[in-house]
Amino acid sequence: MAQGTLYIVSAPSGAGKSSLIQALLKTQPLYDTQVSVSHTTRGVRPGEVHGEHYFFVSKPEFETMIAAEDFLEHAEVFGNYYGTSRAAIERVLATGVDVFLDIDWQGAQQIRQKMPAARSIFVLPPSTEELDRRLRGRGQDSEEVIARRMAQAVAEMSHYAEYDYLIVNDDFDLALTDLKHIIRAERLRMSRQKSRHDALISKLLAV
Ligand code: GDP
Ligand code: ADP
Ligand code: 5GP
Repeated sequence: MAQGTLYIVSAPSGAGKSSLIQALLKTQPLYDTQVSVSHTTRGVRPGEVHGEHYFFVSKPEFETMIAAEDFLEHAEVFGNYYGTSRAAIERVLATGVDVFLDIDWQGAQQIRQKMPAARSIFVLPPSTEELDRRLRGRGQDSEEVIARRMAQAVAEMSHYAEYDYLIVNDDFDLALTDLKHIIRAERLRMSRQKSRHDALISKLLAV
């Protein structure tokens, strides 16, 4: 069976990458597409569930995992640690399922080095004002946290050209359609199609 594709999605906080990934997963069967659940040392937001949005761990626990080389990548973002655990991802990709990583540019660079077959997608907001409006509209972060995320937005966006694909998330449904088309095109690549249609190709080419 062909390996699943690993997708990296990055954006400044509030651009809508989590919403886009969640909406995509709703339209794709679980056995086709999954999102990786990161570990983080940041506090739990209202409504967030351990093991679903993140695995929330203490700083010492996170540092123990770094030392044990449990992470495929990890980075410090907005003063907290975030990391992608290696075991879960490799196991799922091996079963042919596509996996989404919602990670920052530092993590993206580490993944590209370790897994060159990964595809990366950058999401931009339609304007700075709209980014600010979305961060506030989400209603989950304090004024101080929002200010910090807005201040970091340009630094994150300055890495956009390192990615394979660029989506501007203005109209949500159009952005979601763009994302679906990227996945579809990647699934039509020769390497994936060859193994999926192995029996058909053998029959067609038989003399
Ligand atoms: P992240 O924190 O950078 O990962 O950003 P998120 O993925 O969490 O989402 C950004 C904002 O978009 C949130 O406030 C969502 O509520 C909002 N949003 C999500 N879907 C839609 C939609 O279909 N329409 C509109 N108008 N807003 C949406
Ligand atoms: P991120 O994961 O990039 O930080 P979120 O997905 O949490 O961003 O989105 C931040 C806020 O913006 C959410 O409240 C979300 O509902 C909203 N949002 C996302 N995409 C759009 C869009 N195209 N138009 C309007 N609001 C959006
Ligand atoms: P949030 O606190 O809004 O959920 O995420 C903040 C930032 O951390 C986002 O830019 C997100 O992409 C990034 N992030 C989340 N999980 C990981 C991870 O496992 N690794 C890395 N490198 N960044 C992550």
